[in-house]
Amino acid sequence: QSRERQRGQGMTYVIIEACIGVKDRACVDVCPVDCIYEGEDMLYIHPDECIDCGACEPECPVTAIFPEEDVPADMQSYIAKNRDVFNSDTPPGPPKR
Ligand code: SF4
Repeated sequence: QSRERQRGQGMTYVIIEACIGVKDRACVDVCPVDCIYEGEDMLYIHPDECIDCGACEPECPVTAIFPEEDVPADMQSYIAKNRDVFNSDTPPGPPKR
């Protein structure tokens, strides 16, 4: 791993609003480290577990996955949302099928 990562500060992949109510889960099937979890409303990528491989990005049918650095300006809040949801009272769990 050439890129230096610090907890909570490393670049990661982020799921944005487009996933809400969709939860297609195609991304789940290709993630090599099983770091995509299911929340009430949408799927979330665990920022500390994601290895930034990019495999999930092209699989999403609604283009909801972006590298953190490419998250659209009006979706910036989802960077924190993907991180904070794992510290909430109802953290995302293993994806349901
Ligand atoms: Fe999983 Fe790779 Fe997507 Fe990160 S970038 S969520 S490791 S498939």
